[in-house]
Amino acid sequence: MNHLPNTPVLEDGVWLPFTAMRGFTEAPMIFDRAEGMHYVTPEGHRVLDMMAGLWCVNAGHAHPRITAAIREAAGKLDFVSSFRMSHPGAFAFARRLLDAVPGMARAFFSNSGSEAVDTALKIARGYHRARGDAARTKFIGRAKSYHGVGFGGLSVGGIARHKRDFGPLLADVFHMPLPHDPAQRFLRDRPPAGDHWLAGLDDILAVQDPSTVAAIIVEPVTGSGGVYPPPIGYLEALRARCDRHGILLIFDEVITGFGRLGACTAAEALGVWPDIMTLAKGLTNGAVPMGATLVDGRVFDAYMQGPAGAPELMHGYTYSAHPLACAAGMAALDAYQQEGMFEASARIAQPFAAALLALQGAPHVIDVRHCGLLAAVELEPREGAPGARGAAVADACFTDGVLVRAAGDTMVLSPPLVVTEAQVAQTVEAMARALATIG
Ligand code: PLP
Repeated sequence: MNHLPNTPVLEDGVWLPFTAMRGFTEAPMIFDRAEGMHYVTPEGHRVLDMMAGLWCVNAGHAHPRITAAIREAAGKLDFVSSFRMSHPGAFAFARRLLDAVPGMARAFFSNSGSEAVDTALKIARGYHRARGDAARTKFIGRAKSYHGVGFGGLSVGGIARHKRDFGPLLADVFHMPLPHDPAQRFLRDRPPAGDHWLAGLDDILAVQDPSTVAAIIVEPVTGSGGVYPPPIGYLEALRARCDRHGILLIFDEVITGFGRLGACTAAEALGVWPDIMTLAKGLTNGAVPMGATLVDGRVFDAYMQGPAGAPELMHGYTYSAHPLACAAGMAALDAYQQEGMFEASARIAQPFAAALLALQGAPHVIDVRHCGLLAAVELEPREGAPGARGAAVADACFTDGVLVRAAGDTMVLSPPLVVTEAQVAQTVEAMARALATIG
């Protein structure tokens, strides 16, 4: 981490997530303002945000529409429970969201991606139970997937280091392999089609009776695990397997939702629809915490068959459909749609990929992967010090005025959809300078 001059002395009361606390307070990265594509530190150091915060500020920071909507909402209705009551903004936002995500029939609101995922897993089990198929309780996730930090999401997630300290997790969870061939590097397109990609799933289904599986959950494009695009035809084949065996398909679109792939969702961009979809992050442009679990009509209707008058889904959060979050979500959709941001994302995806692929041949770069406005530049780790080289590159870029994220030794990029070609070029130049100097 870089030591910037005049960094204010920090209170030491906060325990930060996924952060090495011993060391952080000696060299903190602190931002106190943000606007458009930039963060600004207390010293006035402007940093180009090529991570959209944390894969979430898709419309750029402090978007005036969203800021105004939150202000207005805060002055009108601070809070109302969603347990047996609601507010007009919740219905208006749900309707608007479902119009933007055709194929889905209902939106269940929560406060984060983790909650959206745990909600999806519970809804999936309850769906089968409501249909008299209570034996379907198993879940299948995938290696390298990230589905948040609740016990459900952690269980179906595929990153061992995240789980190590917290077991036992959910029983009866299985993981299929990531569809990735390390020999296929610097690909211009998605990985080529092949029957072999789902062989690992077929192996699981050969041992675990498919009639005991409730749901398969995947990120359409693996995000935090290092940006792995789905091979051509892979999601279609996954959809077909689920249909054949009566298994629900859950797309975790917490990262891919809201324009990353040039459409509102990856489902729309890639033409494959799940039964349940999780959203968060770009749902409110990151401005107010919110998650959503969308379900199709079949799932919702299954719950509506029992005796009327009793709650069909015994689940929910104090802050479900919070008025500020609904207002921010509505304004974010206005910004995305009325300002053509999904189209802008689609337009810049190719130049973005081309610019990053030009890092092939730069020191330490062993792969570049990309899909829409998501990319990863994978570095050879330093001998005996995994993650050190990635951190050094991120630090050097920060000093150079560009924020990129190091996931171990993989540099991940997920800029706001409004990023320009000049800003992409600035980023690649900063990365190339860092790679040439850090060793
Ligand atoms: N699912 C995916 C695909 C994510 O990328 C994330 C967060 O990065 C989550 C779930 C968890 O979201 P949150 O951090 O809002 O709980």
